[in-house]
Amino acid sequence: MILGQEILRAAKILAEAENAAASCGAGISAESGIPTFRDPGGVWERADPAEMGTSEGLIATLKTNPQKLLPVFRDLLDTFEQAEPNPAHFALRHLEQMGILKTVVTQNIDNLQQEAGSTDVIEVHGNGFRMRCLKCGRSKCYPRKDMIRRIKEKIQAPDSVAFSDIVELMPKCEECGSVTRPDVVMFGEAVKDIPKSFEAARKCDVMLAIGTSGVVYPAAYLPFEAKEAGARVIVVNPNENAFHRVSDVYIPLKAAEAMDQIVKAVKEQ
Ligand code: NAD
Ligand code: ZN
Repeated sequence: MILGQEILRAAKILAEAENAAASCGAGISAESGIPTFRDPGGVWERADPAEMGTSEGLIATLKTNPQKLLPVFRDLLDTFEQAEPNPAHFALRHLEQMGILKTVVTQNIDNLQQEAGSTDVIEVHGNGFRMRCLKCGRSKCYPRKDMIRRIKEKIQAPDSVAFSDIVELMPKCEECGSVTRPDVVMFGEAVKDIPKSFEAARKCDVMLAIGTSGVVYPAAYLPFEAKEAGARVIVVNPNENAFHRVSDVYIPLKAAEAMDQIVKAVKEQ
């Protein structure tokens, strides 16, 4: 059982760690029912990144042809509404409680790592349930399921939605009353908290890279940064990814299964 040995090696490395960090991509939430964007069946097979991935493209499409985005938008809302944290998110919480893991840097916007109970989560691509005021910049988090239900009620009418309806869907800023938008990083926008993430990567003794392809920068640098600073790198991803050169242990399993087994093995160390 070569894979079993890799799980044991990962567990041994983690059991010795005092300041581990994790860098997570869309793959850690795949088993929560949120598909990754790039994998087969992902959003980018159904929507053009130029129309839905950038703020300008999204606003232009919403103004000229909002009906076009409705099916994808509705599907995304259903998906994010039904999702729950999975054993991989909980495994990271357990590692934190065991005093092993200090920080999770996530590219996900789904809030699931926080909902699993992790306390130090850096969201480099923002959070889909935090709204940011376009005028004063103030941001506020809303409960995920409530917010989605409220939006879904407003876009129930089958084919008719106008740009003004979409703007109206967003809660108004509680400070200045202006329009807000989800505080997420679209293509071409500045990634958040990068100095903090790189500091976590440089300081950690072990870096877990979970469900991340390594093609979305600058988050993709984190495992390399950690390795260069002397950390050991554990990669969990069932598919080809960019981290082979720096991985001390590579576990080609889905995140939930791999992380569940790793945490059990750490507890037995
Ligand atoms: P990504 O770099 O996050 O790639 C996803 C990776 O997950 C791939 O390498 C894939 O092999 C791996 N993967 C698939 N299923 C897995 C599983 N069950 N367990 C472990 N690994 C698995 O790139 P992306 O999907 O193109 O996403 C791009 C960006 O879009 C993300 O960085 C994020 O900001 C956003 N996004 C967020 C969510 C979310 O919030 N849940 C979901 C999709 C995309
Ligand atoms: Zn405001």
